[in-house]
Amino acid sequence: MSVQKETLGFQTEVKQLLHLMIHSLYSNKEIFLRELISNASDAADKLRFEGLAHPELFEDDPELRIRITFDKDARTITLCDNGIGMSRDEVIANIGTIAKSGTKAFFEQLSGDAKKDANLIGQFGVGFYSAFIVADTVTLTTRRAGQPASQGVRWTSKGEGEYTLETVERAQRGTEIVLHLKEGEDELLNDWTLKRIVRTYSDHISIPIEMKKGNSYGEDGEVIVSDEFEAVNEASALWTRSKNEITEEQYKEFYKHVAHDFSDPLAWSHARVEGRQEYTELLYIPSRAPFDLWDRERKQGVKLYVRRVFIMEDSHKLMPQYLRFVRGVIDSNDLPLNVSREILQASKDIDAIRSGCVKKVLGLLEDLAENDKTKYADFWQEFGQVLKEGVGEDFANKERIAKLLRFVSTVSESDVPEISLSDYIGRMKDGQDKIYYITADTLSAARNSPHLEVFKKKGVEVLLLTDRVDEWVVGSLTEFDGKKLQSVAKGALDLGALEDEADKEAQKQVEEAAKPVVELVQKALGERVEAVRATARLTDSPACLVVGEHDMSAHLERLLKQAGQPVPEGTKPTLEINPEHVLVKRLAEEQDEARRTDLAHVLYDQALLAEGGKLDDPATFVKRINKLMLELSA
Ligand code: ADP
Ligand code: MG
Repeated sequence: MSVQKETLGFQTEVKQLLHLMIHSLYSNKEIFLRELISNASDAADKLRFEGLAHPELFEDDPELRIRITFDKDARTITLCDNGIGMSRDEVIANIGTIAKSGTKAFFEQLSGDAKKDANLIGQFGVGFYSAFIVADTVTLTTRRAGQPASQGVRWTSKGEGEYTLETVERAQRGTEIVLHLKEGEDELLNDWTLKRIVRTYSDHISIPIEMKKGNSYGEDGEVIVSDEFEAVNEASALWTRSKNEITEEQYKEFYKHVAHDFSDPLAWSHARVEGRQEYTELLYIPSRAPFDLWDRERKQGVKLYVRRVFIMEDSHKLMPQYLRFVRGVIDSNDLPLNVSREILQASKDIDAIRSGCVKKVLGLLEDLAENDKTKYADFWQEFGQVLKEGVGEDFANKERIAKLLRFVSTVSESDVPEISLSDYIGRMKDGQDKIYYITADTLSAARNSPHLEVFKKKGVEVLLLTDRVDEWVVGSLTEFDGKKLQSVAKGALDLGALEDEADKEAQKQVEEAAKPVVELVQKALGERVEAVRATARLTDSPACLVVGEHDMSAHLERLLKQAGQPVPEGTKPTLEINPEHVLVKRLAEEQDEARRTDLAHVLYDQALLAEGGKLDDPATFVKRINKLMLELSA
């Protein structure tokens, strides 16, 4: 009996994805089984969870399991689970569409190069569709737990443009997937091969994955065909096993299951914690950032279990935002099974678990930073910008996070951030008591900034901060290891003990001598500036802008404006001029007042441009420059 048969088209993206996947993942085709088992296991977890409040969903069949059978003649492999199943709407939503945000951006990244795309596709998590790597027709029949047998749904597709859906009778709860194999895939129709694949990729699955017992031989050598099933995997939750019983490969395969990722993790931490809260954590750092790392709405990756029962997937309570890339499992012994999102929000117990897990992750990162620099560099490349948020977000662990930060500085030979704050301090000059930094839009803007001139002259290292999040970092991290972090573009230049008496005396004389020109420029610029002063900061440039010690940096102000955020009005920069520069000397000698005013404005506008700023009135700037050029050549 079948009603309501309809043919539906795949979302365009699904079509594209199917095509790409089949080609790029073919060399690793066995993973189709891992992906389908992973889904069946998730379905069992969901049923166990919903069954806590609604035991009738178990329908007198409480032993959750996955069964795999095959039929040599029909050339099919069948996977059957008695998990939560799906309703018709759920089948359409989960199997016919990719309902993930960022899908479009993902497709734009695809290059057509099979190897690169294979990586991306894995990261996108195309689990179910991987069936089409080996199958030319896939039939999925399912019924959601608790629904009547008349509400079964059958989905069939050849993995091309469309699929059919019909409502069917289905007594058995859960999902059955029949793969009709492509030509040439017959080697999969083999007991031994399938068992090997299951053991290789899915041994960690916590419910039994059953296959028919192998045939045995009677006393007279006759074949006894067995209809009994036996578990092929160990069927205990991996994280509950003791560390020395788990192989590296098993840890990796488990990661792929919990994280829905196709690549190996970078590192992991597995521990049973006892004390006020008893729990087990198995937490992973992925090797690559997911494409939607910056999507605040995205699911978080740590799953919460209570005494082996899956409770929820994406609780923002389990990991802070700045560790949102962490994947894995936390299994509590103490929380109540009926714990809800609302309870979690206010739970002191969860706070304790979370802070324990954060410490584990930071410990793991410290260990990498210390003992595996290459891996740590990979980590930093992928997730450094996210970890930086922690400096402002996690007050209790600020120092530890600060130690993990990596920067580019004026001594870096490449653009790779490798310098830690401790490295910096270890190299500080005699008499230097501050950690100097500059914020800018790009590394070249930072490297060429006039603000760095005196530091270059004195050989003092300056950190070059060019990530958007850096302004937030320096806003929260004002000190490290007793050393103040100082912007080179804020406040009057104070090199402290880096200057000797002779320097200071010379500077005083320069200031004295520059008084008249400072006054001239001040008068010409009027309201445009807070003040004008002579500086020893510059060696090559005629002028630069600085803001007050406690004012918002010009760079941050630009970032906020770009983002359409309000910025406080009324703070004006100070123009610092270099009295040794020929242009400034020329201005001092200029007799014509109008030309002096023009020169002063040009100095200001140049300084603004040099630090990456935008002119309010570019046309007037251009007019002034043109006028000055003509006068010079006249
Ligand atoms: P993912 O597992 O990363 O969500 P998949 O492509 O593997 O992506 O699966 C898509 C969705 O289809 C799952 O999230 C789930 O909602 C649904 N699904 C797949 N297989 C099953 C199954 N055996 N039982 C119930 N739901 C399933
Ligand atoms: Mg999946």
